[in-house]
Amino acid sequence: MRASAYRVPTEVAEADGTLAWSATTIVVVQAEVGDVLGLGWTYADGACAALVHDVLAPVVEGGDGLDVPAAWLAMQRAIRNLGRPGLVSCAMSAVEIALWDAAARLLGLPLCRLLGRVRESVPVYGSGGFTSYDDQQLGEQLQRWVFDQELAAVKIKIGAGWGSRADRDLERVDLAREMIGSRAELYVDANGAYGTGQAVRIGRRLDEREVLWFEEPVSSDDLSGLRRVREAVGADVAAGEYGYHLPYFAAMLEAEAVDCLQADVTRCGGFGEWLRAAAVAAARNREMSSHCAQNLAAHVAMATANVRHLEGFHDHDRIERMFFDGTLDPAGGEVRVDMSGTGHGMTFKEVDAERFRVS
Ligand SMILES: [Mg+2]
Repeated sequence: MRASAYRVPTEVAEADGTLAWSATTIVVVQAEVGDVLGLGWTYADGACAALVHDVLAPVVEGGDGLDVPAAWLAMQRAIRNLGRPGLVSCAMSAVEIALWDAAARLLGLPLCRLLGRVRESVPVYGSGGFTSYDDQQLGEQLQRWVFDQELAAVKIKIGAGWGSRADRDLERVDLAREMIGSRAELYVDANGAYGTGQAVRIGRRLDEREVLWFEEPVSSDDLSGLRRVREAVGADVAAGEYGYHLPYFAAMLEAEAVDCLQADVTRCGGFGEWLRAAAVAAARNREMSSHCAQNLAAHVAMATANVRHLEGFHDHDRIERMFFDGTLDPAGGEVRVDMSGTGHGMTFKEVDAERFRVS
Protein backbone atom coordinates (compact mmCIF):
# COMPACT_ATOMS: atom_id res chain seq x y z
CA MET A 1 0.00 0.00 0.00
CA ARG A 2 1.30 3.43 -0.92
CA ALA A 3 0.18 6.83 0.36
CA SER A 4 1.36 10.21 -0.96
CA ALA A 5 0.33 13.76 -0.15
CA TYR A 6 -0.10 16.59 -2.68
CA ARG A 7 -0.64 20.26 -1.97
CA VAL A 8 -2.56 22.04 -4.73
CA PRO A 9 -2.77 25.86 -4.69
CA THR A 10 -6.22 27.39 -5.32
CA GLU A 11 -6.68 29.54 -8.45
CA VAL A 12 -7.39 32.59 -6.27
CA ALA A 13 -7.50 33.08 -2.49
CA GLU A 14 -10.61 31.46 -1.02
CA ALA A 15 -12.53 31.97 2.21
CA ASP A 16 -15.78 31.05 3.92
CA GLY A 17 -17.28 32.43 7.12
CA THR A 18 -14.67 30.99 9.45
CA LEU A 19 -11.58 30.02 7.42
CA ALA A 20 -9.37 31.30 4.60
CA TRP A 21 -7.11 29.07 2.48
CA SER A 22 -4.82 29.21 -0.53
CA ALA A 23 -4.19 25.48 -1.10
CA THR A 24 -5.81 22.07 -0.62
CA THR A 25 -3.95 18.94 0.46
CA ILE A 26 -5.07 15.59 -0.90
CA VAL A 27 -3.65 12.27 0.36
CA VAL A 28 -3.87 9.53 -2.26
CA VAL A 29 -3.79 5.85 -1.29
CA GLN A 30 -3.06 3.05 -3.76
CA ALA A 31 -3.60 -0.52 -2.61
CA GLU A 32 -2.21 -3.41 -4.59
CA VAL A 33 -4.56 -6.37 -4.18
CA GLY A 34 -3.81 -9.42 -6.32
CA ASP A 35 -3.21 -7.99 -9.78
CA VAL A 36 -5.41 -4.90 -9.37
CA LEU A 37 -4.71 -1.47 -7.93
CA GLY A 38 -7.35 0.12 -5.68
CA LEU A 39 -7.45 3.91 -5.44
CA GLY A 40 -8.73 6.07 -2.59
CA TRP A 41 -8.08 9.53 -1.22
CA THR A 42 -8.89 12.01 1.50
CA TYR A 43 -8.62 15.77 1.80
CA ALA A 44 -6.56 16.13 4.95
CA ASP A 45 -3.09 16.91 6.25
CA GLY A 46 -0.11 15.07 4.76
CA ALA A 47 0.38 13.39 8.16
CA CYS A 48 -2.30 10.93 7.01
CA ALA A 49 0.24 9.36 4.65
CA ALA A 50 2.45 8.41 7.62
CA LEU A 51 -0.58 6.99 9.45
CA VAL A 52 -1.36 4.81 6.44
CA HIS A 53 2.21 3.50 6.17
CA ASP A 54 2.96 3.07 9.87
CA VAL A 55 -0.36 2.09 11.44
CA LEU A 56 -3.03 1.03 8.94
CA ALA A 57 -1.21 -0.83 6.15
CA PRO A 58 0.45 -3.34 8.52
CA VAL A 59 -2.92 -4.56 9.88
CA VAL A 60 -4.61 -4.72 6.46
CA GLU A 61 -1.90 -6.33 4.38
CA GLY A 62 -2.21 -10.06 3.93
CA GLY A 63 -6.00 -10.13 4.42
CA ASP A 64 -8.53 -11.38 1.88
CA GLY A 65 -9.04 -8.65 -0.72
CA LEU A 66 -12.81 -9.19 -0.79
CA ASP A 67 -13.29 -8.89 2.98
CA VAL A 68 -13.19 -5.10 3.12
CA PRO A 69 -15.27 -4.82 6.31
CA ALA A 70 -12.79 -7.16 8.04
CA ALA A 71 -9.91 -4.91 6.99
CA TRP A 72 -11.86 -1.89 8.27
CA LEU A 73 -12.43 -3.60 11.63
CA ALA A 74 -8.74 -4.42 11.92
CA MET A 75 -7.93 -0.73 11.35
CA GLN A 76 -10.58 0.38 13.86
CA ARG A 77 -9.03 -1.89 16.51
CA ALA A 78 -5.46 -0.85 15.68
CA ILE A 79 -6.11 2.88 16.17
CA ARG A 80 -7.67 2.61 19.65
CA ASN A 81 -4.91 4.56 21.41
CA LEU A 82 -4.63 7.20 18.66
CA GLY A 83 -8.30 8.23 18.67
CA ARG A 84 -10.62 7.88 15.72
CA PRO A 85 -11.94 11.43 14.98
CA GLY A 86 -9.80 13.71 12.83
CA LEU A 87 -6.79 12.66 10.79
CA VAL A 88 -6.96 9.01 11.82
CA SER A 89 -10.48 8.68 10.45
CA CYS A 90 -9.45 10.49 7.24
CA ALA A 91 -6.56 8.04 6.73
CA MET A 92 -8.85 5.07 7.44
CA SER A 93 -11.38 6.42 4.95
CA ALA A 94 -8.83 6.65 2.14
CA VAL A 95 -7.64 3.09 2.78
CA GLU A 96 -11.16 1.67 3.07
CA ILE A 97 -12.18 3.35 -0.21
CA ALA A 98 -9.08 2.02 -1.98
CA LEU A 99 -9.89 -1.49 -0.71
CA TRP A 100 -13.52 -1.32 -1.94
CA ASP A 101 -12.27 -0.11 -5.30
CA ALA A 102 -9.81 -3.01 -5.46
CA ALA A 103 -12.48 -5.55 -4.45
CA ALA A 104 -14.82 -4.36 -7.19
CA ARG A 105 -12.00 -4.50 -9.73
CA LEU A 106 -11.12 -8.04 -8.62
CA LEU A 107 -14.73 -9.05 -9.24
CA GLY A 108 -14.95 -7.09 -12.51
CA LEU A 109 -17.90 -5.05 -11.20
CA PRO A 110 -18.64 -1.34 -11.01
CA LEU A 111 -18.24 -0.32 -7.36
CA CYS A 112 -21.84 0.84 -6.96
CA ARG A 113 -23.02 -2.63 -7.98
CA LEU A 114 -20.82 -4.30 -5.37
CA LEU A 115 -22.17 -1.87 -2.73
CA GLY A 116 -25.76 -2.61 -3.85
CA ARG A 117 -27.11 -0.12 -6.35
CA VAL A 118 -30.57 1.39 -5.80
CA ARG A 119 -30.61 4.23 -8.35
CA GLU A 120 -29.58 5.14 -11.89
CA SER A 121 -28.22 8.61 -11.14
CA VAL A 122 -27.61 11.10 -8.32
CA PRO A 123 -28.39 14.84 -8.39
CA VAL A 124 -25.44 17.20 -7.90
CA TYR A 125 -25.55 20.78 -6.65
CA GLY A 126 -22.86 23.41 -7.30
CA SER A 127 -20.91 24.48 -4.22
CA GLY A 128 -18.46 27.36 -3.87
CA GLY A 129 -19.52 31.03 -3.86
CA PHE A 130 -16.68 31.91 -1.51
CA THR A 131 -16.94 35.02 0.67
CA SER A 132 -13.62 36.12 -0.84
CA TYR A 133 -15.08 36.29 -4.37
CA ASP A 134 -15.99 39.65 -5.83
CA ASP A 135 -19.38 40.03 -7.48
CA GLN A 136 -18.00 39.22 -10.92
CA GLN A 137 -16.30 36.00 -9.78
CA LEU A 138 -19.49 34.93 -8.03
CA GLY A 139 -21.54 35.73 -11.11
CA GLU A 140 -19.29 33.75 -13.44
CA GLN A 141 -19.39 30.69 -11.20
CA LEU A 142 -23.18 30.78 -10.84
CA GLN A 143 -23.58 31.32 -14.57
CA ARG A 144 -21.48 28.23 -15.29
CA TRP A 145 -23.39 26.00 -12.87
CA VAL A 146 -26.93 27.12 -13.60
CA PHE A 147 -26.90 28.08 -17.27
CA ASP A 148 -24.02 26.05 -18.74
CA GLN A 149 -24.19 22.87 -16.62
CA GLU A 150 -27.90 23.18 -15.77
CA LEU A 151 -27.49 22.23 -12.10
CA ALA A 152 -30.76 22.42 -10.16
CA ALA A 153 -29.27 23.93 -7.00
CA VAL A 154 -26.29 26.08 -6.02
CA LYS A 155 -24.71 26.96 -2.69
CA ILE A 156 -22.80 30.05 -1.67
CA LYS A 157 -20.83 30.82 1.50
CA ILE A 158 -22.14 33.39 3.96
CA GLY A 159 -21.14 34.35 7.50
CA ALA A 160 -18.22 36.48 6.27
CA GLY A 161 -15.75 37.53 8.96
CA TRP A 162 -17.15 35.19 11.62
CA GLY A 163 -20.64 36.62 11.13
CA SER A 164 -19.52 40.24 11.44
CA ARG A 165 -20.75 41.26 7.97
CA ALA A 166 -24.37 40.08 7.92
CA ASP A 167 -25.52 42.94 5.68
CA ARG A 168 -22.93 41.95 3.08
CA ASP A 169 -24.04 38.30 3.39
CA LEU A 170 -27.64 39.23 2.55
CA GLU A 171 -26.47 41.48 -0.29
CA ARG A 172 -24.60 38.54 -1.81
CA VAL A 173 -27.66 36.30 -1.39
CA ASP A 174 -29.73 38.93 -3.24
CA LEU A 175 -27.08 39.14 -5.95
CA ALA A 176 -27.02 35.37 -6.36
CA ARG A 177 -30.81 35.22 -6.57
CA GLU A 178 -30.80 37.97 -9.18
CA MET A 179 -28.25 36.01 -11.23
CA ILE A 180 -29.93 32.61 -11.12
CA GLY A 181 -33.57 33.79 -11.03
CA SER A 182 -35.88 30.83 -10.51
CA ARG A 183 -33.73 28.50 -12.61
CA ALA A 184 -32.11 26.86 -9.56
CA GLU A 185 -32.60 26.43 -5.83
CA LEU A 186 -30.40 28.69 -3.70
CA TYR A 187 -28.51 27.28 -0.70
CA VAL A 188 -26.19 28.96 1.82
CA ASP A 189 -23.45 27.68 4.13
CA ALA A 190 -22.38 29.78 7.12
CA ASN A 191 -19.68 27.32 8.26
CA GLY A 192 -20.70 27.88 11.88
CA ALA A 193 -20.06 31.63 11.78
CA TYR A 194 -23.19 32.92 13.53
CA GLY A 195 -24.41 32.90 17.10
CA THR A 196 -27.77 31.20 17.62
CA GLY A 197 -29.95 34.31 17.92
CA GLN A 198 -28.17 35.92 14.99
CA ALA A 199 -28.65 32.78 12.89
CA VAL A 200 -32.39 32.79 13.64
CA ARG A 201 -32.70 36.45 12.65
CA ILE A 202 -30.71 35.94 9.45
CA GLY A 203 -32.56 32.70 8.73
CA ARG A 204 -35.88 34.59 8.71
CA ARG A 205 -34.48 37.00 6.13
CA LEU A 206 -33.17 34.05 4.10
CA ASP A 207 -36.71 32.61 4.15
CA GLU A 208 -37.96 35.83 2.52
CA ARG A 209 -35.39 35.19 -0.22
CA GLU A 210 -36.51 31.59 -0.73
CA VAL A 211 -33.22 30.09 0.43
CA LEU A 212 -34.01 26.41 0.94
CA TRP A 213 -30.84 25.14 2.69
CA PHE A 214 -29.07 26.77 5.65
CA GLU A 215 -25.90 24.80 6.36
CA GLU A 216 -24.08 25.11 9.69
CA PRO A 217 -25.92 28.29 10.71
CA VAL A 218 -24.12 27.85 14.04
CA SER A 219 -21.23 25.58 14.97
CA SER A 220 -22.04 21.96 14.21
CA ASP A 221 -20.89 21.18 17.77
CA ASP A 222 -23.85 23.20 19.08
CA LEU A 223 -26.62 20.66 18.60
CA SER A 224 -29.21 22.58 20.63
CA GLY A 225 -28.34 25.74 18.65
CA LEU A 226 -28.84 23.92 15.35
CA ARG A 227 -32.17 22.63 16.62
CA ARG A 228 -33.26 26.11 17.71
CA VAL A 229 -32.48 27.51 14.24
CA ARG A 230 -34.18 24.55 12.58
CA GLU A 231 -37.37 25.14 14.55
CA ALA A 232 -37.40 28.87 13.78
CA VAL A 233 -36.69 29.00 10.04
CA GLY A 234 -38.19 27.49 6.91
CA ALA A 235 -34.92 26.52 5.22
CA ASP A 236 -33.62 23.01 5.82
CA VAL A 237 -30.81 23.01 8.36
CA ALA A 238 -27.91 20.74 7.37
CA ALA A 239 -24.69 19.70 9.11
CA GLY A 240 -22.48 16.65 9.58
CA GLU A 241 -19.35 17.33 7.52
CA TYR A 242 -17.17 16.94 10.64
CA GLY A 243 -18.62 13.53 11.43
CA TYR A 244 -15.71 11.13 11.86
CA HIS A 245 -17.58 8.14 13.31
CA LEU A 246 -21.06 6.71 13.72
CA PRO A 247 -21.81 8.00 17.26
CA TYR A 248 -21.42 11.59 15.96
CA PHE A 249 -24.15 11.11 13.35
CA ALA A 250 -26.39 9.28 15.81
CA ALA A 251 -26.07 12.14 18.33
CA MET A 252 -26.82 14.79 15.70
CA LEU A 253 -29.98 12.96 14.64
CA GLU A 254 -30.98 12.17 18.23
CA ALA A 255 -30.80 15.91 19.03
CA GLU A 256 -33.18 16.68 16.11
CA ALA A 257 -30.46 19.10 14.96
CA VAL A 258 -30.72 18.67 11.17
CA ASP A 259 -33.28 18.24 8.40
CA CYS A 260 -30.69 16.64 6.13
CA LEU A 261 -27.59 14.83 7.39
CA GLN A 262 -24.29 15.51 5.66
CA ALA A 263 -21.39 13.06 5.67
CA ASP A 264 -18.04 13.04 3.92
CA VAL A 265 -16.89 9.63 2.68
CA THR A 266 -13.25 10.71 2.92
CA ARG A 267 -13.63 11.67 6.59
CA CYS A 268 -16.35 9.54 8.14
CA GLY A 269 -14.54 6.21 7.83
CA GLY A 270 -15.31 5.38 4.20
CA PHE A 271 -18.17 3.80 2.31
CA GLY A 272 -19.14 1.34 5.06
CA GLU A 273 -19.51 4.03 7.71
CA TRP A 274 -21.42 6.21 5.23
CA LEU A 275 -23.94 3.39 4.69
CA ARG A 276 -24.29 2.89 8.46
CA ALA A 277 -24.84 6.65 8.94
CA ALA A 278 -27.43 6.54 6.15
CA ALA A 279 -29.22 3.70 7.95
CA VAL A 280 -29.34 5.71 11.19
CA ALA A 281 -30.68 8.69 9.21
CA ALA A 282 -33.29 6.50 7.51
CA ALA A 283 -34.53 5.36 10.92
CA ARG A 284 -35.32 9.04 11.62
CA ASN A 285 -36.83 9.70 8.20
CA ARG A 286 -33.92 11.92 7.18
CA GLU A 287 -32.04 12.15 3.91
CA MET A 288 -28.28 12.17 3.37
CA SER A 289 -26.26 14.65 1.36
CA SER A 290 -22.62 13.97 0.67
CA HIS A 291 -20.01 16.53 1.61
CA CYS A 292 -17.27 17.10 -1.02
CA ALA A 293 -15.11 14.46 -2.82
CA GLN A 294 -17.99 14.07 -5.26
CA ASN A 295 -16.39 11.54 -7.59
CA LEU A 296 -15.98 9.03 -4.74
CA ALA A 297 -19.25 9.84 -2.99
CA ALA A 298 -21.19 9.21 -6.21
CA HIS A 299 -20.65 5.45 -5.98
CA VAL A 300 -21.96 5.01 -2.45
CA ALA A 301 -24.76 7.50 -3.13
CA MET A 302 -25.87 5.20 -5.95
CA ALA A 303 -26.26 2.54 -3.25
CA THR A 304 -28.15 4.75 -0.79
CA ALA A 305 -31.95 4.98 -0.98
CA ASN A 306 -32.29 8.06 1.25
CA VAL A 307 -29.79 10.30 -0.54
CA ARG A 308 -30.80 13.80 -1.63
CA HIS A 309 -27.75 14.94 -3.54
CA LEU A 310 -24.00 15.25 -3.87
CA GLU A 311 -22.08 18.42 -3.20
CA GLY A 312 -20.17 19.38 -6.35
CA PHE A 313 -17.51 21.33 -4.48
CA HIS A 314 -15.52 23.70 -6.68
CA ASP A 315 -12.05 22.95 -5.25
CA HIS A 316 -12.49 19.19 -5.37
CA ASP A 317 -14.03 19.25 -8.83
CA ARG A 318 -10.92 21.04 -10.05
CA ILE A 319 -8.40 18.79 -8.24
CA GLU A 320 -10.15 15.54 -9.13
CA ARG A 321 -10.26 16.45 -12.84
CA MET A 322 -6.52 17.32 -12.67
CA PHE A 323 -5.51 14.15 -10.77
CA PHE A 324 -7.80 11.41 -12.01
CA ASP A 325 -9.03 10.03 -15.32
CA GLY A 326 -12.64 8.88 -15.33
CA THR A 327 -14.25 11.62 -13.23
CA LEU A 328 -17.99 12.15 -13.57
CA ASP A 329 -19.69 14.94 -15.50
CA PRO A 330 -22.54 16.70 -13.65
CA ALA A 331 -23.87 18.45 -16.78
CA GLY A 332 -27.65 18.26 -16.76
CA GLY A 333 -27.70 18.27 -12.95
CA GLU A 334 -26.87 14.69 -12.10
CA VAL A 335 -24.11 12.10 -12.42
CA ARG A 336 -24.37 8.58 -13.77
CA VAL A 337 -21.85 5.81 -13.30
CA ASP A 338 -20.50 3.85 -16.24
CA MET A 339 -22.00 0.41 -15.53
CA SER A 340 -19.60 -1.27 -17.95
CA GLY A 341 -16.54 -0.16 -15.91
CA THR A 342 -14.94 -1.75 -12.87
CA GLY A 343 -14.31 -0.29 -9.41
CA HIS A 344 -15.03 3.44 -9.25
CA GLY A 345 -13.57 3.69 -12.73
CA MET A 346 -10.96 6.32 -11.93
CA THR A 347 -7.21 6.05 -12.41
CA PHE A 348 -4.52 8.23 -10.89
CA LYS A 349 -2.60 10.55 -13.25
CA GLU A 350 0.53 10.24 -11.14
CA VAL A 351 2.78 12.07 -13.59
CA ASP A 352 0.44 15.09 -13.69
CA ALA A 353 0.20 15.10 -9.89
CA GLU A 354 3.95 14.83 -9.26
CA ARG A 355 4.67 18.57 -9.28
CA PHE A 356 2.31 19.01 -6.31
CA ARG A 357 3.77 16.18 -4.19
CA VAL A 358 4.85 17.05 -0.66
CA SER A 359 5.35 13.56 0.82
MG1 LIG B 1 -20.16 23.08 4.58
